[in-house]
Amino acid sequence: MADDLINSFMTGPDEQGRFGIFGGRFVSETLMPLILALQAEYERAKTDPAFKAEMDDLWTHYVGRPSPLYKAERLTERLGGATVYMKRDELNHTGSHKINNVLGQILLARRMGKTRIIAETGAGQHGVATATVCARFGLKCVVYMGAHDVERQQPNVFRMRLLGAEVIPVRSGRGTLKDAMNDALRDWVTNVRDTFYCIGTVAGPHPYPAMVRDFQSIIGRETKAQIMDREGRLPDTIIAAIGGGSNAMGLFHPFLDDRSVRIIGVEAGGKGVDETMQHCASLTGGRPGVLHGNRTFLLQDDEGQILEGSSISAGLDYPGIGPEHAWLKDVGRADYVSITDAEALAAFTLCCETEGIIPALEPAHALAHVAKIAPALPPEHLIVMNMCGRGDKDIFTVARHLGVEIDA
Ligand SMILES: *Cc1c(COP(=O)(O)O)cnc(C)c1O
Repeated sequence: MADDLINSFMTGPDEQGRFGIFGGRFVSETLMPLILALQAEYERAKTDPAFKAEMDDLWTHYVGRPSPLYKAERLTERLGGATVYMKRDELNHTGSHKINNVLGQILLARRMGKTRIIAETGAGQHGVATATVCARFGLKCVVYMGAHDVERQQPNVFRMRLLGAEVIPVRSGRGTLKDAMNDALRDWVTNVRDTFYCIGTVAGPHPYPAMVRDFQSIIGRETKAQIMDREGRLPDTIIAAIGGGSNAMGLFHPFLDDRSVRIIGVEAGGKGVDETMQHCASLTGGRPGVLHGNRTFLLQDDEGQILEGSSISAGLDYPGIGPEHAWLKDVGRADYVSITDAEALAAFTLCCETEGIIPALEPAHALAHVAKIAPALPPEHLIVMNMCGRGDKDIFTVARHLGVEIDA
C-alpha cells in the first residue's frame, strides 16, 4: 500500500492544486486571473486573526456551533454491536453542513470587495444556504439551477426567492446540476469585477477543493475534541455520506494522520452499482476524467460523456467526487462503499424510530453502512457518523417510496 511511503496525509494539495494525480486547475485562460486572486486572498485570510474571529462569532451565534456529538444509545442497542455516535450537523441553521462553507466563502467575498454572489445548486440545499448568508450581508445572489431540478425542488426554489435570491433555470445540456455548474462558471468569466463564485462542495478548480474542505473541517475538529472529552480516546471508525464529498472531507480531514481511525465514505448506490448504471457512485462505479476544472473520478460513458446520476437522495447526485477523495482512495487511506436506495430508506426509518431524529436521505446512506458493520463489532468499538442534514425536506420522497399519499 502506497501509504507506507507517506508521512502525512494532511499536506495536500501541492502548488498546482493536485492530490496525487487528481485535482488541479483545468480552466480557460480568462478564468485564471480570478482564480489566482481568490487563492491569494484565501491564503491571506487563513492566517488573519480577524477573519477567524468573524467566522467563529457567526458560527456560534448565527449557525449554532458547536453541533453536539450525540451517543445514539437506542440505535446502538438495536444494532447490538459497536457504540454509535452521531455528529449533529443537521442542527445547524438551514439544516445541514452546507452553511459552514458558505459562511467562509462569503466572508472571503466581502474581503475581496465583491457585491454579487453566484452559486450552482442541484437539490437546492447549497442554493438556500447561499441565499441565506447573502441576505444576512445584503449581497446580491444569483443561483443557477438545472431546469429539471427547478421543477423537482419547488420548496427550495421558493425558499431561495423568499431570501431574495434570483434563481435562473438552466436549460442547456440536460438541465441538471452539471449544466448549472457550467453556466455559473460562464457567468463568472463575464462578470469578473463584482462577482464571487461560491461552490457548494469540495470540487471545482484549485483552490476550491482545499478551501471548502478547510471550512468544513470544523466538523472533524469539533468531533475530535468532543469524543476525547466523552471517551478519552479517538473513535475507531468514522463514516460520512458523499455527494461531492464536502461533509465527508470536513469530518475526515482532521483524522487523516490518526492511522488507528478507519475512514469510510459512503456513495449513493441508487438501484445498485453492479447491476445498473442508475447510481451516483463516482468512485466505486466511475472512471477518471476532467470536469469542472479538476481531474477526478466521474460517471461517464465510453465516449467520455458525463452520465446523469440517479439516487433517492437528490443531494447525492453530483456526477463527480472531490479530487481529495479520489486520492485518498488511491493511496488506501480511506475506504469507499455504496449503499442502495432501499438500504438508505430502511436506515431512515430505523433512525426515526430508535432515536427520534428524522435524518436527511443523504446521511441515511451513512447510517445504512453503520447498520451493516456495527453488529459484528464489539461495544468498545466507537463509530462516529456524520448526521449532515435533517430530513424535513425529504418526507415527500420518503412517503412516495413507502406508498403513503400526503399533500405537498
Ligand atoms: C448537499 C448535501 C450532501 C452532499 O454534499 P457533500 O458535498 O458530499 O457533503 C450531503 N448531505 C446533505 C444533507 C446535503 O445537503
